[in-house]
Amino acid sequence: MAEPSKQVYALREQAFSFLKRCPDCAVVFDKDWTVTWANPAFEDRFCKRKAEGSSFLSFLDAPSGHQMRDVQSQLFQSARQLELKLTTEGGKSVAVQYLFFPLTVPGSRKTLVAGIGRDRTADLALLNEVIQLNIELEKKQKELSEANARLEQFAETDQITQLYNRHYFFQVAQHFWEEARRYKLPLVAMMMDIDNFKSLNDTHGHLFGDYVLQQLSARLRTNTRKSDILARYGGEEFILLASNTDMATGLVLAERLRSAVAAELFVMGACSAPVSMSVGVSGTELGTFPTFEALLESSDNALYGAKHAGKNCVYAYADLKAANR
Ligand code: GH3
Ligand code: MG
Ligand code: MG
Repeated sequence: MAEPSKQVYALREQAFSFLKRCPDCAVVFDKDWTVTWANPAFEDRFCKRKAEGSSFLSFLDAPSGHQMRDVQSQLFQSARQLELKLTTEGGKSVAVQYLFFPLTVPGSRKTLVAGIGRDRTADLALLNEVIQLNIELEKKQKELSEANARLEQFAETDQITQLYNRHYFFQVAQHFWEEARRYKLPLVAMMMDIDNFKSLNDTHGHLFGDYVLQQLSARLRTNTRKSDILARYGGEEFILLASNTDMATGLVLAERLRSAVAAELFVMGACSAPVSMSVGVSGTELGTFPTFEALLESSDNALYGAKHAGKNCVYAYADLKAANR
């Protein structure tokens, strides 16, 4: 056999120094798992001495050892990737992604297994960090959507009565108005105002006044449908918009609300008082209102009629028109 040329020697030197300098953990072992060669990256990490003569399995934790034994014969047939846990001399467990492949030695019938392994500790730490960040992000998103929901509720709810506020009322009312016009459905608007509320405040104090506002609103709410829009219109004024409701039904509802307020005293500790309210009712059946504001104005006028008629009563816009005739 001819001597290898200088060029071939140089190439072998290159290949060998490539393996020696390679930061991946290269190892070669035989059928008995005995390491025949390991590169410095492997030795620096896992044994701090020559690895030759040691069993490759001695560097693995128990599950990885089992994994290797299970595939031993396959390792001598074809290339295979395995993620193994190796243990450093200091007892630290390191995840290494190995590519094993059979290695036939020229001039020998002996087949060995070569493996190139990349330390995945940094990848796993990064992955872990990404997972943690995602969990954190999900938590923050949940908090944000809860805060948004609270903000939204805050923006549409009156804080004393928990009814819709005036701003929100006008937002949705317009939609009710348009829909009633398009489908020619009757729409009822009801304006309610507590009677002599100023003197109630003066007699029993503002705290009791606030309590009455809150409790009266609860009575109104329990006597209306979910589809009605009930809102605090101003200080002691409330408004109700009932869709697909005719005047006859609207008047029955108004009377039910009035009597729910007047029927029982309002009691807060030692303080109690009777409270009543006046109601003005109008509806699209009663005339051609060019705008929603015109409909509201008619129910406000009816409320004025109720106050004039002696308070604690329901007054319809139609009656006002008849009275003025
Ligand atoms: P009327 O029967 O004609 O409606 O007389 P009134 O006293 O109810 O009406 P007026 O407009 O003279 O007074 C309304 C009172 O409502 C005056 C105001 O201090 C009180 N008020 C408005 N908002 C609140 C509130 O949030 N809390 C309390 N406690 N009182 C309020
Ligand atoms: Mg008022
Ligand atoms: Mg009043």
